Amino acid sequence: MESLNNTSLNTDVIIVGTGLAGLSIAETLLQNKISFICIDNQKLNASSVSSGIYNPIIFKRYSIAWNSDKILLDSLLFYQKIGEKLNMNINFSMPIIKFFNTSQEQNQWAIASEKNRLSNFMQSKIYNEAKSYLVDNNGYGKLKNVGKIDTNKLIREYTKWLETENIFLKTEFDYSKLVLNNKNIKYGNITAKHIIFCEGHLVKKNPFFNWLPLIPCKGEILHIETNDLPNDSILKSSIYLSPIKNGLFWAGSNFNWKFKNISPTLLGKKYLESEINKKFNISYKIKKHSAHIRPTVIDRKPLVGTHPKYKNVHIINGLGTRGVTLAPWVAKELVNYIYNKKSILPEININRFNFEVKT
Ligand SMILES: Cc1cc2nc3c(=O)[nH]c(=O)nc-3n(C[C@H](O)[C@H](O)[C@H](O)COP(=O)(O)OP(=O)(O)OC[C@H]3O[C@@H](n4cnc5c(N)ncnc54)[C@H](O)[C@@H]3O)c2cc1C
Repeated sequence: MESLNNTSLNTDVIIVGTGLAGLSIAETLLQNKISFICIDNQKLNASSVSSGIYNPIIFKRYSIAWNSDKILLDSLLFYQKIGEKLNMNINFSMPIIKFFNTSQEQNQWAIASEKNRLSNFMQSKIYNEAKSYLVDNNGYGKLKNVGKIDTNKLIREYTKWLETENIFLKTEFDYSKLVLNNKNIKYGNITAKHIIFCEGHLVKKNPFFNWLPLIPCKGEILHIETNDLPNDSILKSSIYLSPIKNGLFWAGSNFNWKFKNISPTLLGKKYLESEINKKFNISYKIKKHSAHIRPTVIDRKPLVGTHPKYKNVHIINGLGTRGVTLAPWVAKELVNYIYNKKSILPEININRFNFEVKT
């Protein structure tokens, strides 16, 4: 194990994994003046591959994703504070344009947009003006109060900040070296009171939590360069096209539950290209092709809580397709539970699953 220096280190919390979940825990602990150290292997993570879109609307049913609208504003405030601290803009509020395939979809949109909670995000107006970049026009609707967090920049800059604060270890966490007792936790030269695992889909390798019913869902994405798309809106057909910077767009994604490995595939690339070509009349160059794994759960709710046997071993996972919106909120729930004895919402508590304790 790499060490910060050769002397021993006492801290309150060890955080394993600094994707959106680990970063949110770190920042929440910091706000509560609780000390911590982060460990991450700095391999490509889901949070950096993500488009970072925040949008509480589920298009299939025109419903609100569980709890998303209630927690969104707090999450955006959380990112805004980090942006201010690190002197960078990471929140890009912009409309999402949802293209319709049929006139029936226009009716569904019109009805849904009148409903109470949905109307906070769905404009009732249906647009029919032709767009030069569309193959055919069946009209479109617009979402408001939505946008994207530049998660790639967020993770990169936050990690740099952790490094300058000397509270970041770039190393693979070795579970066999963790020594637990009632009073504290020892990992190499680090002694802590708690450990919080935030490993995304890699939790499957964690002997303390590999019994949780996490369903890994692979997604592939492209970065495409084109001058034919607007830079001020996120476009949604079967996939999203989301501006990264002038002339560069994030295109994705597919949902694959039966995959062999984490690598991008030719099949995934062909799928994304065909979905772009079907709907958009644009010329573009592919600049990048990546893939990663969404940590999803059968009931589509996060996994938050404490190991049934080891009371100082905790987890945040299962952020699924909505890590941006959920991460700050679940981090607060866990920190409040550990330090303020507030109970975790039963819907997200890992104790909703029957566990077979293996360690
Ligand atoms: C293609 C794609 C598109 C997405 N789009 C969106 C979107 O638009 N909006 C949205 O809200 N969500 C989106 N998501 C989902 C979102 O990215 C995830 O919910 C979120 O990133 C999960 O964060 P996490 O911190 O749990 O996991 P991760 O980001 O994967 O982070 C886990 C970290 O733990 C580290 N780690 C694990 N095990 C160890 C170990 N033993 N030692 C050291 N380090 C370890 C990993 O290397 C990694 O850095 C998307 C996901 C994908 C794949």
